[in-house]
Amino acid sequence: MVSTMANKKLAMINGRRVLVDAATKIRQDSDRQYNQARNQRQSEYVKFYHSAAWLKTREQVLIRDDSICQRCGLAASLVDHIIPSEDDWDDRLNQDNLQALCRDCHYWKTRRETTKRKKGQQRAMTITVVAGYPGSGKSTYVLDHAGSHDLIYDYDRLMSALTGQPGHDHNIDVNDYIQLFYELIVRKLKAEQTFDNVWLVMTYPDDKLDSLLASRDLRHIMLDTSKDDCIKRLSHDKRDVISLLKVLDKVDKLKAENKFDKFKVVKNTKFKKKKVFEFNFDI
Ligand SMILES: [Zn+2]
Repeated sequence: MVSTMANKKLAMINGRRVLVDAATKIRQDSDRQYNQARNQRQSEYVKFYHSAAWLKTREQVLIRDDSICQRCGLAASLVDHIIPSEDDWDDRLNQDNLQALCRDCHYWKTRRETTKRKKGQQRAMTITVVAGYPGSGKSTYVLDHAGSHDLIYDYDRLMSALTGQPGHDHNIDVNDYIQLFYELIVRKLKAEQTFDNVWLVMTYPDDKLDSLLASRDLRHIMLDTSKDDCIKRLSHDKRDVISLLKVLDKVDKLKAENKFDKFKVVKNTKFKKKKVFEFNFDI
């Protein structure tokens, strides 16, 4: 016993006194401070995951998501931070940043996040919201400006792809599915920066999107196409102008309510060239 003790020494490790082998190198003060900070952070995590606030929020998110994994649709057993709490501690209880996941999907998501963090792969991704009048040339503008590693969300083009019909023949039952795409895309964009550019083609501004993606490089643009030109173009394309007039009027109303204030007006140079009217949705 005595002989064993002789080979040991007392050391402070993580703020606790412990016996270690005499040959053990004692950590420097800087290590100790690092460890103390890390332990404190870890204990905050542990405390958080045991807190009543988290357990309640967790329950609410499972109910909201019907206990279905938001990635694969199987039964969900846990609630995931879309942006890891490690990266965004402030949003740890924000339900917009939470989703139900199954164990497998959570495992792969976490693995990917860890790899990304290690590689420090932070792309300079720009998200551009393109909103405004139907017929103003938003889809064409985006196609003209998008690069090869971009993501485009465009309601009409998705509708066309999912129904096999021309993009403007809206099928109300498919609408829900496209809405799900949109919500999933916005959540994923909050969590990761995988693209060079993301283009979100929509008609009306979306406040929820702006708040969710506030930490991103977010731009808002609208085209300078006049309302008259839009109407001309819509009728040229044999669109249902009567019902679309309501949409045009709603855009005007939102403009009057300053909802478009953050949108930068950009020139729709293509439109002026007359040839633009060829809109081909047969992909
Ligand atoms: Zn899953």
